[in-house]
Amino acid sequence: MAARKKILITGAAGFLGSHLCDFYVKKDFHVIAMDNLITGRLENIEHLFPLDNFEFCNHDVTNFIHVTGKLDYILHFASPASPIDYLKIPIQTLKVGSLGIHNCLGLAKAKNARLLVASTSEVYGDPEVHPQTESYWGHVNPVGPRGVYDEAKRFQEAITMAYHTFHGLETRIVRIFNTYGPRMRLNDGRVLPAFIGQALRGEDLTIFGDGSQTRSFCYVDDLVEGIYRLLLSDCTEPVNIGNPSEISIGDFAEEIIKLTGTDQKVIYKDLPVDDPKQRQPDITKAKVLLNWEPQIDREEGLKRTHAYFKSLPKDELTTTAHYNFDKYIIR
Ligand code: UDP
Repeated sequence: MAARKKILITGAAGFLGSHLCDFYVKKDFHVIAMDNLITGRLENIEHLFPLDNFEFCNHDVTNFIHVTGKLDYILHFASPASPIDYLKIPIQTLKVGSLGIHNCLGLAKAKNARLLVASTSEVYGDPEVHPQTESYWGHVNPVGPRGVYDEAKRFQEAITMAYHTFHGLETRIVRIFNTYGPRMRLNDGRVLPAFIGQALRGEDLTIFGDGSQTRSFCYVDDLVEGIYRLLLSDCTEPVNIGNPSEISIGDFAEEIIKLTGTDQKVIYKDLPVDDPKQRQPDITKAKVLLNWEPQIDREEGLKRTHAYFKSLPKDELTTTAHYNFDKYIIR
């Protein structure tokens, strides 16, 4: 029997990381799941602990990373990933996107492993090109509240490309657009858990701004499949992975109200600083190069996600409700 492929997943206890762990364990890879549990949760991966092709390593990737024996692949997914998180821990956000990726690249070079890094639609900032193609360079405010995340991700792309061109390292860069599904944290401030949490608690849904800003939501299983195809492809340029089905946040709130059957209303709050007005991936490249496009529409994806949030213990729903957005919202 051929030896199992070995893959290191950083940020493994987070929303995306944990779904990647499930996927690669099922594919019979040996998965090393690394996380320092600042924003990740062990509950997301504890069902994998008994398996012999899974191991968990509690480690902060901004420090030297040691892995014994061979290593075939690295997926660098460690990072706070919501505006509320990176507002709370801006320095860690910058460190994991700079020191963290540097350690991962050094490890990949030492082991001759292929590295895929999680980038984001945030590299396009508040985009002036719509939909966003990979050739667009973006419109980012480096010193605004989102700058710590956006610039860390842009640096990640730059250093990853430099290791590819200078050291000949096998690298892949995925630009991930808004993704949703089970295991999103109720208190991460992102719009989907915020709205569903509010609906389930019987609170009004908070729309920031007038709700005309748009996003395009991709179900997590589709994203994981796209990442898998990109990793195995020979495409070293960045590739958008996301669902092009675009919706305004106002209409999205209405969809959640219908889905949850709540009789709550929407209320309007100030728009966060530098909140992108529109976002929609152009996925032509993924379609052509990876033969990938999303399979799960929003109706089905939201049904599955709603079922997950409904299954959470009641006290989890009630203790995670309220954030202080005051520092984040200026206009
Ligand atoms: N949003 C909202 N109400 C909330 C949380 C978010 O209207 O309770 C808005 C937010 O201002 C943004 C959109 O929903 O325009 C998506 O926000 P999220 O934080 O999920 O993702 P990102 O802005 O990073 O795409």
